[in-house]
Amino acid sequence: MSYDAQSAMKGTGIGQGIALGPVARMSPPPAAPKDESSTLSREQEAARVEAAIQAVAADLTARGQSAGGQAQEVLEAQAMMAQDPSVTEAVDAELAAGKTAEYAVHTAFAEVAEQLAALGGYLGERAADLHDVSARVVAALRGEPAPGVPDPGHPFVLVAQDLAPADTALLDLNHVLALVTIEGGPTSHTAILARSKGITAVVGVEAAAGLADGDEVIVDAAHSTVLLAPSQQQKDEAAARVEARKAAQAAPITEGALADGTPVPLLANLGSPDNAAEAVQLGAEGVGLFRTEFLFLSSETAPSVAEQRESYTTLLQAFPGKKVVVRALDAGADKPLPFLNDAEEENPALGLRGLRALLANEEILRDQLSALAEAQEATEADLWVMAPMVSTVEEAEIFSRFARQHGLKTAGVMVEVPSSALLAEQILQISDFASIGTNDLTQYTMAADRLLGSVSGLQDPWHPAVLRLVREVGAAGAATGKPVGVCGEAAADPLLAVVLVGLGVSTLSMAPAALADVRAELLRHTKEQAEAIAAAALTAPDAAGAREAARTAAASHSPE
Ligand code: PEP
Ligand code: MG
Repeated sequence: MSYDAQSAMKGTGIGQGIALGPVARMSPPPAAPKDESSTLSREQEAARVEAAIQAVAADLTARGQSAGGQAQEVLEAQAMMAQDPSVTEAVDAELAAGKTAEYAVHTAFAEVAEQLAALGGYLGERAADLHDVSARVVAALRGEPAPGVPDPGHPFVLVAQDLAPADTALLDLNHVLALVTIEGGPTSHTAILARSKGITAVVGVEAAAGLADGDEVIVDAAHSTVLLAPSQQQKDEAAARVEARKAAQAAPITEGALADGTPVPLLANLGSPDNAAEAVQLGAEGVGLFRTEFLFLSSETAPSVAEQRESYTTLLQAFPGKKVVVRALDAGADKPLPFLNDAEEENPALGLRGLRALLANEEILRDQLSALAEAQEATEADLWVMAPMVSTVEEAEIFSRFARQHGLKTAGVMVEVPSSALLAEQILQISDFASIGTNDLTQYTMAADRLLGSVSGLQDPWHPAVLRLVREVGAAGAATGKPVGVCGEAAADPLLAVVLVGLGVSTLSMAPAALADVRAELLRHTKEQAEAIAAAALTAPDAAGAREAARTAAASHSPE
């Protein structure tokens, strides 16, 4: 698309989507009310609180009904919280002390939330929901719009600082045309959600802070831009691309392959067996990364072998005869577990995490491998297991030994730290396969926290430093005859997927919603061309340069 560089705002595009529509901004939480005495009577303030709580409960229930499914359950539970007697009693106590309705609600909800948080576990997690309800009631008392995702009554481009997981879970995808965030990088919650749901998104767009409700924009994820006040010609071009993309999404599902027929199996990243059916429907040829943390994250102790077996069996049953790569528990840093990780670590990303934490808690690893072996026995899938955060040859050797002791025949490693990429050939002499986790590999190569907005510009897997490490692993795969996959978010970026294949990667695993775009892009290039595109990207000085070089190389044989 022909952009005026002056008016296009830059960020990091997620996927290949393009959308055109009016902006609606996420409203910020209301400012905390001041501790002031009310000029109204206690009864008048109580009536205001009652009316605001009723209005918020009715709004949450109505939103739940229109969203349906899991969102409805969450919203109805929130509506009930608003009317919970423990909260109303605490509000009354504040009103009796002569406080304003706003202050009474804010303080009372905070008190109850604190009590819930102290209980920990499932109830503790509900504390955040109470804060959200409290903010809604305070906004209603002030006559302000409800905080959170806006509801302008028509389709819109959502612009936010960044999105919390609770906001993203409830997005009405019939109305959200695209997401634009001011903060956040390619591995932020927003980016992961956008990829998993196939939503057009550009993240980390600092200039989007200046956008106002109603501004018309084109959000172009493929070019990582947000264009304010587009011309008619630009709008027509965008509309044509929206249509072309719809056609690509509707293209027949074939096995992943390059234009010359070189197979590149396309696998799914899953976080729960519940998503298996959708992955199969979208053409996943197996599972390249099953994250097992979901089984552990909400519990205070590790789940039993029987509980784990049931879950793994459900997963494997969805893929008879297909490869399913299950990752051993990856706890620590961005996924801490109270019973496994040391809360005292100053730098948890560099601490006892991933396989290191499992080796310090061998029982948990052994139980998990036993459960996997039992699930393997009961099903027809081809189960592979892999260890997260392997950083030495010795760790690879220990994990392979453990896996074999438990009757698991295919054991590999995730390459997520530069040391294991550099030692890939020695590791692959021991391990059966390697799977590159580009999210962490980028974090550790660039020394840039994957969750920190201020360094998100460095969190880019297109960086030639990251690509060179991928090349090392690809070459090690070729030298040892062992398969090398990529299961980080990079595999979901169609052109980067081509680069990865050009660097020697043989399988790609991604959020199922990305499969169609990646499948279509691979079919545009031969193996030789993919290698030439990768070579062009490698010579660039930075991530933006690599992207541009790859685009130019790709366009030379496959014009857009
Ligand atoms: C990765 O680091 O790229 C990866 C796939 O693992 P996770 O995102 O779960 O850390
Ligand atoms: Mg990782």
